[in-house]
Amino acid sequence: MSDTIAAVATGGGISAVGIIRVSGSNALTIADNIFRTACGIRLKDAECRRLYYGTLCDIDLCLCTISRAPNSYTGEDTVEFHCHGSPVVLAEVLEVLFKNGVRQALPGEFTKRAFLNGRMDLTQAEAVIDIIESETSAAAKNAVGQLQGKIGVKLDSLYDRLIEIMAHFHAVIDYPDEDIDDFNVKDYLARLKDIDSELQQMLATHKRGKILRDGIPTAIIGRPNTGKSSLLNALLGYERAIVTDVAGTTRDTVEEKVLLGNVLLRLIDTAGLRNTDNAVEKLGVERTFAAIDSAGLVLLVLDGSEPLMHEDYDALRLIPPGIPKIAVVNKSDLPAALEISELGNLGIKCCSISALSGDGLNSLDEEIEKLFPVFANPSEHDMQVKYEQSSSGELITNVRQAEALSRASGCIRLATDALTASVTPDAVLMDIESALTAIGEITGKTIREDIISRIFERFCVGK
Ligand code: GDP
Repeated sequence: MSDTIAAVATGGGISAVGIIRVSGSNALTIADNIFRTACGIRLKDAECRRLYYGTLCDIDLCLCTISRAPNSYTGEDTVEFHCHGSPVVLAEVLEVLFKNGVRQALPGEFTKRAFLNGRMDLTQAEAVIDIIESETSAAAKNAVGQLQGKIGVKLDSLYDRLIEIMAHFHAVIDYPDEDIDDFNVKDYLARLKDIDSELQQMLATHKRGKILRDGIPTAIIGRPNTGKSSLLNALLGYERAIVTDVAGTTRDTVEEKVLLGNVLLRLIDTAGLRNTDNAVEKLGVERTFAAIDSAGLVLLVLDGSEPLMHEDYDALRLIPPGIPKIAVVNKSDLPAALEISELGNLGIKCCSISALSGDGLNSLDEEIEKLFPVFANPSEHDMQVKYEQSSSGELITNVRQAEALSRASGCIRLATDALTASVTPDAVLMDIESALTAIGEITGKTIREDIISRIFERFCVGK
């Protein structure tokens, strides 16, 4: 018996339709008490996943659909009322439900029940919130792949293969007279190596997965007064950073997310690069260096109304060779003094814009889209041709999962070392068991209740 919970599943505010979701052992009986179908069929005798039109007490004329356990999202009997999207109506429906013994659902409680009832593993449950929170279509696509079980299936296979190896080691421990022969040792070493390499492959996707989810860290750099803060503001569409013609105004890095050319960027406006004796400004410049080093893209802002200066060249030299960069030649509304062809000779892509008027920002969009096609156009074709794993939902975006993968890999390596050094089977077993625990934490096979609760706390109410 599970207690019956309810919540508004749609967003707050006025909308065309508002959905109230009810789940639990008494969901059908309670719904049957408060909803009358127009066709006369009682809800408890209704067909699953069919919409019934009817009256919900005297509160609303609406649609209702039911699913019976175990074939529902939560694995329990569930009912959904598709009401008119008035917050007042929805509040009244909830009130009636509460009077009938239903309680308000906690954040993520429906999905938590789905996980606890075996309807999905933990990677799928986490994918649900990732879809809801995704900021780009590429991120949503990856999360949908995870909801389909892409990560879970891989990990289940690794888990089963480790269990197989463990079974053999247990046999050796139970019959101590029988040694593991060399042939078996070689075989198990090969199997453990395969498992580790698969774990490593999954882990290697995390860097790209993090970018997909959080955006490409993009440092906006340049000497003072070229228009870095103005560019940030123009891209964001509001005055986020202070713009003045006093050099050295931006002393700390300012960070904001923005979608440019369909690519999610984490824009970092940095302190202007110049030699200074001011201690605070110096610290700002040091932070600029750090932002450049950890950037996935650098936008070097130049003042197009002035010739290139040695500080511009210095800034360009600061960008490590592997980091994509674009020279943004600003102030195109003023008479041009900068020779764009000079930049071409330096091997840097450039676009001419005016942060003040917004002219040319489209060309920046296009350059970024060209640099990161995989994040901009997550079509099956592009993804498969250019980045074999990107669209399939196998990018690890979640830090918790990445940490557990890394731990699992570490344990497998310890097991391999122990096996190579002919340590006793029980020592090898301990390492394999730890690897199993780490993998189980990702899918939810072996995970503590308090961690489960923490995971679902970040969900919204009604999901
Ligand atoms: P930062 O020091 O590089 O961050 O530069 P700011 O964004 O603070 O801008 C410095 C000065 O340049 C300010 O007076 C801005 O109004 C001006 N500015 C920025 N962008 C443009 C532009 O596109 N055209 C013109 N004419 N002035 C600009």
